[in-house]
Amino acid sequence: IIRIDRLEKSFGSLKVLDGLSFDVMPGEKLALIGPSGSGKTTILRILMTLETITGGHVEVCGEQLFHMRRNGAERPADEAHLHHMRRHIGMVFQHFNLFPHKCVLDNITLAPILTKGEPRAAAERRAMDLLEMVGLADKARAMPSQLSGGQKQRVAIARALALQPRIMLFDEITSALDPELVEEVLLVMKRLAAETDMTMLLVTHEMGFAHEFADRVLFFDRGRIVEQGPPDQIFTRPTHERTQSFLRKII
Ligand code: ATP
Repeated sequence: IIRIDRLEKSFGSLKVLDGLSFDVMPGEKLALIGPSGSGKTTILRILMTLETITGGHVEVCGEQLFHMRRNGAERPADEAHLHHMRRHIGMVFQHFNLFPHKCVLDNITLAPILTKGEPRAAAERRAMDLLEMVGLADKARAMPSQLSGGQKQRVAIARALALQPRIMLFDEITSALDPELVEEVLLVMKRLAAETDMTMLLVTHEMGFAHEFADRVLFFDRGRIVEQGPPDQIFTRPTHERTQSFLRKII
């Protein structure tokens, strides 16, 4: 469902992704781990077309996200096409970015109603189902300011799911939370991973969570994949020295 081929990304003279290649199968749950600055977030932002690329190819649902010009500069596929592609992918960020002046229910239904033209009643029904799933059905009419960080993040997850994307990207969704709130978000994520056939990519520093959540773990360093495999293998029998020293430091 995603094919990344010799992807390169530089910010000025800083090469962040260096000939990166990997594929993601439909329904796969992937965890992206690695040291700070290794390019994990940049990959998600490229998939969301929030960043352009400086080399290689990125294919989502069989279509190229970027076209290369002959002089090497990239340009995103045309706007209408991008709009179409973005519907396939939803993203949840470290900071929840809820609309502060809208209640929880409106936060979730706004995009389906405005961008997909869904009838309000249908959008609200699905929003309530999603709130049920994230354990917040009783907060539908609450304002974001009345929620804890963990609750806000669970609303943000429900909001991204409301657009029914085929692929969901999660960028360090627990790293802005107090430790005691992390657990409730992880529980929701585990349930989601077990219950849906959606493709999911998760960037995280929570190794225990990556272990339980993922079918496959990719360890990045300096814009390349150093090692990848099933969580049991990566976390208990890493073969590469860089993976071993990273895990020693973080666990
Ligand atoms: P972390 O775990 O800390 O979030 P990461 O692996 O997600 O790290 P990225 O956020 O992808 O890393 O960043 C990779 C590198 O690219 C970093 O050195 C960062 O400073 C740099 N970078 C990211 N975005 C930009 C930008 N817009 N302009 C310049 N440099 C950037």
